[in-house]
Amino acid sequence: MSVRVVARLRPLLSQELEKDIIVRTDSVEPEKPVTIVKIPNPRNESEEFSFTFNGVYGSETTQETLFTSEVAPHIKSLFQGLDVTIFAYGVTGTGKTHTMRGGMKLAERGVIPRLLSSIFRRGKKIMKDTDGETTVDVALSYYEIYNDKVYDLMEPPEKRTATGLPLRAEANGKTVVVGLTERACEDLKDFEALYIEANNNRVTAATKLNAHSSRSHAILRVKLTQTTGNMVLESTASAIDLAGSEDNRRTDNGKERMVESAAINKSLFVLSQCIDAISQGAKRIPYRESKMTRILSLGQNNGITVMILNLSPLRNYHLDTLSSLNVSSRAKRIEVREIENEVVFKQVPRTNSATATRQPLKPLAN
Ligand code: ADP
Ligand code: MG
Repeated sequence: MSVRVVARLRPLLSQELEKDIIVRTDSVEPEKPVTIVKIPNPRNESEEFSFTFNGVYGSETTQETLFTSEVAPHIKSLFQGLDVTIFAYGVTGTGKTHTMRGGMKLAERGVIPRLLSSIFRRGKKIMKDTDGETTVDVALSYYEIYNDKVYDLMEPPEKRTATGLPLRAEANGKTVVVGLTERACEDLKDFEALYIEANNNRVTAATKLNAHSSRSHAILRVKLTQTTGNMVLESTASAIDLAGSEDNRRTDNGKERMVESAAINKSLFVLSQCIDAISQGAKRIPYRESKMTRILSLGQNNGITVMILNLSPLRNYHLDTLSSLNVSSRAKRIEVREIENEVVFKQVPRTNSATATRQPLKPLAN
């Protein structure tokens, strides 16, 4: 299975004008679902570039529609033991945070609270259906990567060290953050309290550095543990709000900002290089060149990845929009192995060196 890449075009905001719209959506044929994004060639506006995605969501798309179409179908797989990663990519101001976090009102809630809500709902149903024989536990981690350093968002900014948290490659090929806080989470109320607290930590830390949170990558990791007797199945859902993909060389930055931008740009640049390398079938993928790409490990993680490209319709984003369309349309060609996480048996006899047994692989729909 490939990485699923979908584009979401945000609507005009209150001060923005219809006449400045340059990005449009289209379908291959009338009546067919919209899968094409069109944008003029900046060098010759009579020409238009077309980009095809696995799905394109126009400016009228609700939070509910996006979630139902692109995230809800993978919840079942998550409970079957697959890791699911949803990430938002795009220029600052195009709707990444709106898509992932969303607003406070129920209808405005984004992917993250809806994901948690579905996980709790399904978990409760499983516990009920098995008469409590299977228990479902949810634990939350939330961290940011800023200037290629990892910081725990569950901890107050005062606790940050100069180097941030280290990463470690596990035997199963996954990359983990060493020393990351994990908080048990029983229900949506628990989640919301933790999430608000962590987002406040993020803003406070950014303010201290005189920076903006759109300059860091925010990664929420939901660990799902299903236990039946001595069998434990673990899987994770990751929701990532990436830093803005704009080219900071074009923006008017002070000197300090330039250093910071270089590191942020570097990780997004490495991401685009990884996407290129994978889509061209290259042997060497430059994952290790940034922490964000190590964690994302596109095409290496055994699971489901959905990339949401957020777009603004406006002319003043023209070049950055074009560049983000170029990067993400290449990501469609990335193959992901869909392999379920192993069921781990606790209390395995010491004579048996194997501590884990692989579950038979089930073919999955989509
Ligand atoms: P980003 O995180 O990519 O910088 P934001 O999510 O902060 O962008 O969005 C920028 C502005 O546009 C915010 O005011 C946000 O509320 C608004 N916005 C983005 N997407 C939508 C949408 N689909 N519907 C309504 N408002 C949106
Ligand atoms: Mg944002």
